Amino acid sequence: MKKNYDAVIIGGGASGLMCAISAKTNNPKLNIAIIEKNDRVGKKLLSTGNGRCNLTNQNVAPDRYVGSFGRLGGMLNNYGADFLTDYFKKLGLLTYRDSEGRYYPVSKQASSVLDVLRYNCERLGAELLCGREIRSVSRQKSFVIKTADEVFECGKLVICCGSKAAPKLGGSSSGLDYLKNLGHTVTPFSPALCPVRADSAVLRSLKGLRASGMASLYRGGKLVKEEPGEIQFADGALSGICVFNLSLYARENDVIRLDIADYISNKELCSALLKNRERFGFLTADNIFTGILQKRLAQAVLKLSGTELNKLISELSEKELAALADTAKSMEFTVKGKPGFEQAQCALGGVSGGEIDEKTMMSKKVKNLYVCGEAIDICGECGGYNLHFAFVSGIIAGESL
Ligand SMILES: Cc1cc2nc3c(=O)[nH]c(=O)nc-3n(C[C@H](O)[C@H](O)[C@H](O)COP(=O)(O)OP(=O)(O)OC[C@H]3O[C@@H](n4cnc5c(N)ncnc54)[C@H](O)[C@@H]3O)c2cc1C
Repeated sequence: MKKNYDAVIIGGGASGLMCAISAKTNNPKLNIAIIEKNDRVGKKLLSTGNGRCNLTNQNVAPDRYVGSFGRLGGMLNNYGADFLTDYFKKLGLLTYRDSEGRYYPVSKQASSVLDVLRYNCERLGAELLCGREIRSVSRQKSFVIKTADEVFECGKLVICCGSKAAPKLGGSSSGLDYLKNLGHTVTPFSPALCPVRADSAVLRSLKGLRASGMASLYRGGKLVKEEPGEIQFADGALSGICVFNLSLYARENDVIRLDIADYISNKELCSALLKNRERFGFLTADNIFTGILQKRLAQAVLKLSGTELNKLISELSEKELAALADTAKSMEFTVKGKPGFEQAQCALGGVSGGEIDEKTMMSKKVKNLYVCGEAIDICGECGGYNLHFAFVSGIIAGESL
């Protein structure tokens, strides 16, 4: 049976739900449906922000994003964090901001965000068609979308299929397949906001450990990006939010340098080690960082700087202490790629940003085709930037339908 709609949105995630709400608010008469392949909408949304949903950030700005969608400045000026939190307030969601500018629902539950989106879709009369596996999308006079046993026809089509990240939560690259077939340039997805596989003689000994510090990414000796935060040492990989942010830029054979004593200068660390030599000279060298570093980290620093662990602290020369301070402030790990999409929160790649008009989210190549959210070649840092883009691009597209 063929069903006709004014507009169909493929994908019932953050951008798709918001797009439907915006479209129906703007034009209540619009006959609109969301087609979602999962048995329910917003599955990924429920997992965001560790179940709390970090939905935007006060510091939203173009320099928080990478990708080919280059005209973000004007868009974010008009659709910033204040705009989005006000928009949510009108839908019934109250939010709060933490000390780092991140916004969450006051309930601290991602399910509140999803409920507000779902119930507003229902209130406004947007149809949610879940559990529909799409077989094909084509453009004839109008757009024709086929599942195994249904055909949908619509004048306007919005691709809100997200990216391949987190496939268990609905991540797929089908949106890109549709867009490619409709004539768009696409860059295949690659994992981002994920751990970084790393190589170092000490990584295995640090497995499971967490330390705060500064993580800096270098390419050919040049600094690419640095991020403070908690570093998690995993099996063959570095993780933690600061590493996730570096993963946006990291390439094979780049170097990540960790400063695990970033709260003091190299000089201050050297003098602290000299004092420890006076205090604890009778102990073995693996105790030289007593009161400064966790024992396992200290042992790794000794190993990397080539210091014998069993030597007495009193026997360590000033030169050796200086080398230990240098190593603690610059532990090197060579980037060996990224794990798969299962461990990624987002993806690099998508439809070329230059082919989408940022004022309407309409394709510059195919009239009445719109693209929102992560299906576009744009990826933000951790902190609410990706949901911000998904929500506001959905709102903009909805206003233009
Ligand atoms: C664990 C995790 C935590 C995260 N935490 C945060 C956070 O706190 N803050 C933040 O800003 N970002 C976060 N993100 C990123 C954020 O969730 C995404 O950037 C955002 O959801 C993208 O929105 P979207 O609408 O483009 O795609 P999605 O929200 O992924 O929605 C796409 C929808 O399309 C459906 N779909 C895909 N293909 C088809 C098809 N062929 N037919 C029908 N339906 C289809 C999918 O099932 C899905 O429901 C997190 C991601 C993950 C995985």
